[in-house]
Amino acid sequence: MFKNIVVLTGAGISAESGIPVFRSETGLWEQERVEDVATYEGYARNPAKVHEFYNKMRRSLKERKPNPAHLALSRLEQEWQQGEVTVVTQNIDDLHEKAGSNNIIHMHGELRSAWCEHCDEHYPWEDDTSAATVCPKCNVKGKVRPDIVWFGEMPYQMGRISEKLNACDLFLSVGTSGVVYPAAGFCQIARAAGALCVEFNLEHSAGFSSFNYGLYGKASQTLTEFVDHLLKTGEALDKV
Ligand code: NAD
Repeated sequence: MFKNIVVLTGAGISAESGIPVFRSETGLWEQERVEDVATYEGYARNPAKVHEFYNKMRRSLKERKPNPAHLALSRLEQEWQQGEVTVVTQNIDDLHEKAGSNNIIHMHGELRSAWCEHCDEHYPWEDDTSAATVCPKCNVKGKVRPDIVWFGEMPYQMGRISEKLNACDLFLSVGTSGVVYPAAGFCQIARAAGALCVEFNLEHSAGFSSFNYGLYGKASQTLTEFVDHLLKTGEALDKV
C-alpha cells in the first residue's frame, strides 16, 4: 500500500492545454536561442529582450486552462487519505494552481512571480516587467527580473524536494524529457528510497530505464486512468 506520492511534471503535461513544450517547432522557445532567453548572461546582454520573452508568456497564461491531467493530480491530492501528494513541477505556468492542486513546488520558478535582485524578495507578479520596473519592496528601479530559474542557476527548494523524494513510495514523472538536471535524476533518488517509479510520456524519455515502467500516450488519458485506479484500489495500474 502506498503512502506518500511525489509527482514530477514537465512541459508535456501542459502541451494539451496549448502551451508548447521546450523543443517544439511552434513554441516561443524554438524561435529564440536558450542562451539568449534562459541564462543570466543572455539577460545581462539584452534585458529588454528577456523581459519581453517572459512578458509574452505571462500574458498568454490568461487564455490557458488546465487539462484532464492537471485535474487528475488535483483530485489525487484532495482524495488521497493514506499520506501526502506533492507535485514538483519544472513548469513555470500556473495550470496546477488553476486545477486546484495546493501542494506544489515550482522548482524552476513561476511566470506569475517576480524577484528583486537588490533586496532578494520574491513576490506575486501579474504585470509585465521591464528595466524600468520599480521594486515594490525596496523601491529600487531596474533590479526586478522574471522569477525563473535559468540554466546555470540553482533550482528552488532542493532540500525540501530531496526530503519528499526520500520519503515517497510512489514516484510519477509526467511529460518530461528527462534531459534537464537535477530533475532528470529524481527517479533514481526515489527508486533508491524504495519507491515504485512510473513515467507518463508520449514515448520513452531519456531516463526511462530508471523507471519500473512507463505508460505511453497522452497524459490526459494515461494519467487520468492511473489516478482513477489508484484512488479506487490503492494500487498502481500495471503496465498495459
Ligand atoms: P521538454 O519540452 O523537454 O519535454 C516534454 C516532454 O513531454 C517530451 O518528452 C514529450 O514527449 C512529452 N509530452 C509531450 N506531450 C505530451 C502529452 N500530451 N502527454 C505526455 N507527455 C507529453 O520538457 P521538460 O522536460 O519539462 O524540460 C523543459 C524545460 O523548459 C523545463 O525545465 C521547463 O521549466 C521549461 N518549460 C516550461 C513550460 C511550461 O511551463 N509549460 C513549457 C516549455 C518549457
